[in-house]
Amino acid sequence: MSQIVVLGAGYSGIQAARVLARSAPEHLVTLVDRLPHHQLTTQFPATVTGRLTTGRAFIPLERIVPTNVRILRAEIESVSRSPFEIQTSLGAVPADWLAVCLGTTSSDLGVPGAREHALPLKSVQDCMRLRNCVRDLVSSRGLTRIVVVGGGYSGTEVAGELTDPQFATSTRGLEVTIVQPDNRLLPQGSSRLADAVQRILTKRGVRTLCGLWLSEVGAEGICLDTGEKLAADLVVWTASTRPTPVVKQTFEISPEGRIPVDPYLRPPNSERVYVAGDLAALQDLHGRLYPASAQIAVAQGTRIGQNIIAELAGKLPVEFKPRLLGEALTLGRHAAAAEVGGVLSTGRLAHAMKRAALFRYLAGFGSPALLRDYL
Ligand SMILES: Cc1cc2nc3c(=O)[nH]c(=O)nc-3n(C[C@H](O)[C@H](O)[C@H](O)COP(=O)(O)OP(=O)(O)OC[C@H]3O[C@@H](n4cnc5c(N)ncnc54)[C@H](O)[C@@H]3O)c2cc1C
Repeated sequence: MSQIVVLGAGYSGIQAARVLARSAPEHLVTLVDRLPHHQLTTQFPATVTGRLTTGRAFIPLERIVPTNVRILRAEIESVSRSPFEIQTSLGAVPADWLAVCLGTTSSDLGVPGAREHALPLKSVQDCMRLRNCVRDLVSSRGLTRIVVVGGGYSGTEVAGELTDPQFATSTRGLEVTIVQPDNRLLPQGSSRLADAVQRILTKRGVRTLCGLWLSEVGAEGICLDTGEKLAADLVVWTASTRPTPVVKQTFEISPEGRIPVDPYLRPPNSERVYVAGDLAALQDLHGRLYPASAQIAVAQGTRIGQNIIAELAGKLPVEFKPRLLGEALTLGRHAAAAEVGGVLSTGRLAHAMKRAALFRYLAGFGSPALLRDYL
């Protein structure tokens, strides 16, 4: 019997643990996470305005983790490789095989004042804090000015939720600005989708400052690297992420802050260790890094679970070659943009596609009660 330890219960770790529990029940699978729940990050932006309750943005682990997986709720403090040993806040965990699925944490990129004055959106606690802050601001001020730093999935969706017509009419005036260091929104996604999102946000009055960066965040607003100052009552930080410090001590980290892996999702010169999700730096057929997305994380988590099982059975692992369906973003109650199968759509159809992605994900757990509670 082998001890297989999955680090992280996010999109990739949950899938890896489920595949292992189902296909290799003779082995001992342990899932370690600091949280007692799985975070549905794709739902986070809709909690910022209260369109969704934060209760719909996480699932208690017992509801989705098979009973033959041991759940260890602990902070992972270090990982050593020969022999494998994971130090946690609850003591050492030995391992014969390791699935590293720890995602990333928010990074202020060294911008002075960002840590003190900007609010990140990486956890359910962040959702609650932002929700309370937005609610207090819009109820107490004539005009609320919000700067969203970062124009990826989360930044554009947050801007979309804040400028949703139904929410906007409940305020006494809202000005939303996105500051995006790249030359366009959604730099990881298709340019057609990015253009569609840009059009919707522009129509709603969102100011998008692309190709600009910040020199400072303060209590009164931000300062751009051009010297321009923007007043802000709230700065939402979605701009950048970095690997959790634990993996930095043990693995080589790429310039993008991820662990380089081979097409089988193994770090170089490593045996019996796989990496999946936002942490894994793997190039696609066009030489671009696979984007940090829930869809990729789920597919990679499944692949590393299957590859560990293959190796345990004396077989060869299989390369990661995902069949991607497309991308969909919601920008409030009814607006959305999606590109699925090469077809671009907006409005209710795109909204339905994003909902279908959630349905597909939840349905994979095989629990009708989960669909009832989270859809
Ligand atoms: C606000 C927001 C909106 C998003 N919207 C979309 C979207 O619409 N579509 C999309 O495809 N993607 C979206 N994403 C991206 C998506 O959430 C990530 O790509 C995905 O979560 C990556 O999965 P993962 O398994 O790599 O890591 P995660 O899901 O981040 O999971 C990592 C897990 O590791 C645990 N962990 C980390 N360090 C430690 C430690 N030291 N000790 C113990 N536990 C630890 C964490 O608690 C967490 O449970 C969004 C992200 C955010 C933040």
